[in-house]
Amino acid sequence: MNTVSKPRPLALDTLPTRLLIGGDWRDGRGGEDIDVLDPSTEAVVASVANASVEDGIAAVDAAAAAAKDWAATAPRRRAEILRRAFELMTERADFLAAVISTENGKALSDAKGEVAYAAEFFRWYAEEAVRLAGDLGPSPSGAYNIMVQHEPIGIALLITPWNFPAAMATRKIAPALAAGCTCILKPATETPLTALAVAEILGQAGVPAGVVNVVTTRSTGKVMGAVLRDPRVRKLSFTGSTEVGRVLLREASHQVISCSMELGGNAPFLVFEDADLEAALDGAMLAKMRNGGEACTAANRFYVHEALYDRFADAFAARMAALTVDDGVLPETQCGPLVNPAAVERIDDLVQDAVARGAKVLTGGHRLNRTGYFYAPTVLRDVPPEARMMQEEIFGPIAPLASFSDEEAAIAAANATEYGLISYLYTGNLRRGLRLSSRLQSGMVGLNRGLVSDPAAPFGGMKASGIGREGGHHGIMEYIETKYTAVSW
Ligand code: ADP
Repeated sequence: MNTVSKPRPLALDTLPTRLLIGGDWRDGRGGEDIDVLDPSTEAVVASVANASVEDGIAAVDAAAAAAKDWAATAPRRRAEILRRAFELMTERADFLAAVISTENGKALSDAKGEVAYAAEFFRWYAEEAVRLAGDLGPSPSGAYNIMVQHEPIGIALLITPWNFPAAMATRKIAPALAAGCTCILKPATETPLTALAVAEILGQAGVPAGVVNVVTTRSTGKVMGAVLRDPRVRKLSFTGSTEVGRVLLREASHQVISCSMELGGNAPFLVFEDADLEAALDGAMLAKMRNGGEACTAANRFYVHEALYDRFADAFAARMAALTVDDGVLPETQCGPLVNPAAVERIDDLVQDAVARGAKVLTGGHRLNRTGYFYAPTVLRDVPPEARMMQEEIFGPIAPLASFSDEEAAIAAANATEYGLISYLYTGNLRRGLRLSSRLQSGMVGLNRGLVSDPAAPFGGMKASGIGREGGHHGIMEYIETKYTAVSW
């Protein structure tokens, strides 16, 4: 592991930090502002407004006031605004990447990748906005016609996590706006600056006042609970932990709100004896270390056929050991810090637990003795199935390895989790790959690929990993109410 320490560039004073309600930047009435920390330095870099319940309801008022006009805005016009947002985000990619890296800690290279990915949702949904065709056809009896139209579902509450502060916001805002909905975005308390910067860009792109509102708050449960009980809100799209997802599903039940939930993952990464070892290693690095492991799609458990196990383990450990771990904003950094001290604590507990159960540390296995929330990239081999890290979502730079000899046992182990977001599978035999893909209980499969996220593809999970899909054509349908009219003429 290498570290390089250099002075860090930082110019965040131009960023908005207030609530965005009805086109105005307002102070919050929830009390003292919320400090935003840089996980690389532990320093406070900005403070954002703290919304009260009244502020949350004011955001619903603003979204309601803008709803009719936005729904009536020509799809082509909505598309042009989204397209402009894509262009503005792309022009400001370097600045936005620095903001992401500063408040989240991720390596600047990861942050640049995120900005490109995030902006792409605006371009994709600019294209989708004008393609919301319905259906018209005769009823089976021939007595009348069945007309099906798509209407905007209504005001959408969008709650996003800290791990992809730009992409999780645009993945929700873009389809909502394309479908003709107005929205309220509640970014994660750890990473509000990126969301506020994206909201500012949307205003500059021509999004009218009240169409996108942003509420940052320390009293998340209380403020979001009140918003979800307001009958004007018709959609909840949430990305975050399964635990909070369950709470929100209960909250959404009061008004019977449509829910899209992108929750936790526990991705298996299977390497069969006929896999291309180098390709599997490249994929393993991507699937594990994109975002320093802080991704719901991160490979959580590696199952490697015994014929390749030793070679895979040693080569993977060598690659992880060679990563440059440092301050996220430095261009050389390949792995930044974790988001907060609690994350470091939790990961260290998982590593200690695995070691106590007999796992062997090939590299890492400890925190870094420096300022910032750093943990060494870690590879553990012979991790038993009962180790907590084989069952829980790790969300950090830790790779547990286990070997297998039998295909059936490997598939059974891969599926032995309440989660079902994504599975990775490496084999040189495509027939086997497709056969096994269909048996993996996950919404997504990376077949000889360590990265699957794409704005053009339906992202989402089965089982406790969620409900609904984001991205692709499927993503806009989450913001649509289907209207059937029986017509005689
Ligand atoms: P993570 O593990 O990614 O931090 P969380 O599920 O804790 O995921 O948080 C994801 C988002 O949900 C954040 O914006 C967070 O502030 C918000 N959140 C947390 N608790 C609640 C709650 N009770 N009601 C509404 N939103 C919440």
